[in-house]
Amino acid sequence: MRAAQNLKPATYRCPFCGKHLASMSEHVLIAPEDDRSKRRHAHMECVQQARAAGRLPTRDEWLAAERGPRPSLGARLRARLGGRKLDT
Ligand SMILES: [Zn+2]
Repeated sequence: MRAAQNLKPATYRCPFCGKHLASMSEHVLIAPEDDRSKRRHAHMECVQQARAAGRLPTRDEWLAAERGPRPSLGARLRARLGGRKLDT
């Protein structure tokens, strides 16, 4: 993760709280280590809260949040089995 501040006026959706954030404001880019193309913009406070709680969402959780209800039973089972981190 790294700090990010764009100059272009665009909005992103925070994967933690689901609210939009303005690119002009200070925020954070987060990405799974294995896939930089899946990087997301998140509120600084939301990331700090998640990290303080010892968790950051997995990529599956991000995707699920984007699509709405989780479509896959497998994803639900993995989450229920304590999937903090998905090791393939
Ligand atoms: Zn947020």
